[in-house]
Amino acid sequence: MQSGSKSKREGWRSELPREGVGAAVIEKLKEEKRKDAIWQGKCSGTVYIGGSEYEGHFSLINEACSMFAHTNPLHLDVFQSVARFEAEVVAMTAALLGSKGKSSGGEICGNMTSGGTESILMAVKSSRDYMKDKKGIKRPEMIIPESAHSAYDKAAQYFNIKLRRVPINKSTVLIVGSAPGFPHGIIDPIEELGELAFSYDICLHVDLCLGGFVLPFARMLGYPIPPFDFSVKGVTSISVDVHKYGLAPKGTSVVLYRNHDIRKHQFVAVTEWSGGLYVSPTIAGSRPGGLIAGAWAALMSLGLEGATMHLSLVAYPNAPLNACV
Ligand SMILES: *Cc1c(COP(=O)(O)O)cnc(C)c1O
Repeated sequence: MQSGSKSKREGWRSELPREGVGAAVIEKLKEEKRKDAIWQGKCSGTVYIGGSEYEGHFSLINEACSMFAHTNPLHLDVFQSVARFEAEVVAMTAALLGSKGKSSGGEICGNMTSGGTESILMAVKSSRDYMKDKKGIKRPEMIIPESAHSAYDKAAQYFNIKLRRVPINKSTVLIVGSAPGFPHGIIDPIEELGELAFSYDICLHVDLCLGGFVLPFARMLGYPIPPFDFSVKGVTSISVDVHKYGLAPKGTSVVLYRNHDIRKHQFVAVTEWSGGLYVSPTIAGSRPGGLIAGAWAALMSLGLEGATMHLSLVAYPNAPLNACV
C-alpha cells in the first residue's frame, strides 16, 4: 500500500526544479499515471465507481470538482455555494439513515469530513467529551468488536482512550458496531448493541462507512436488512463514506449525530485569537470545497432511483468483497 522500495524511487525529485516546467507538467502527470495498475472497474474495496475514468459518472464528478477546486468552506461567507452543498449532502445522507423517522428524535445533525477515518475520529472524540460532560468520566475507555476498523485504534491513540474487548465498566464512554465491518462484510447486531448502550447510558457509534449507501437501497430492493440506523434506540453517532458506495470523489464522508448536544463536542472555537474568530468543525482547517461539490453532484445526479439501480446492477452483489483483483 505504501510507496515502494528505495530502488523504485530512483530518479525521484528531492528539490524544486530551478526553472518551472509550465504547462508541460500535464504531460509529466500523464507519464506517471501510465505507471499505475489498471484499476478501472477492477479494484473492489479501492475505487467504487465503475466504468471508464473519462466518461459518464466519472467525468461528471471531475467537472463538478474542478468547477469548485479553489473554494474553501472555512470561509462560509465567501463560499455560500459550498456551504449549501455540504448541508445538503449531510441532510440527504441522514434522510437515508432514519433522520425523518419519529424514533430519530428529529434532531439528527452532522458534518462532512475527509473520509471514514476522520468521521470515526470525530465521533469518538465527541463521544468522549460528551460523556465527560454528562458523567464526569476522565479516564475514558471504549469497547469494540474484533472486526472493527483500525481507525478506532488510531482514535484511541490520538485521544488517549483505552481500547478494550472486555465487559462494559463504569469508565466506558462508547461501544461500536459495524454494518458491515470492512474485513468480513458482516453486519453486527445493532439493535442489541443499542439496547446495551441505552441501558448503560453510554454512546453507540455505528460504522456505516461501507454500508451507509448500500443497506438503505438493499432494503428498498427487498432484501431483509435488520435495523441499523437512527431508528435504533441507543445509536448516538454514525459514520458513512460518500466516497465509497455514494460514488463521490475520494476525500468525502459524513459523520452524523443523534443531536446537537453530542455534536457540539466536535467543534473547536477559538474566540481570543489575533487572527480573529476561528471556528472549525472537523480536523482540517481549510477544506476542499471542490470535493464537497463533487459529492453533491454525485448524489444529485443519481438520485434515489439511480443509486438503487446502480447497486442492484453493480455494487450490491460484490459489496462484502474487498479484494483487489
Ligand atoms: C473504509 C472504512 C473505514 C475507513 O474509511 P477511510 O475512508 O478509508 O478512512 C472505516 N470503517 C469501515 C467499515 C470502512 O469500510
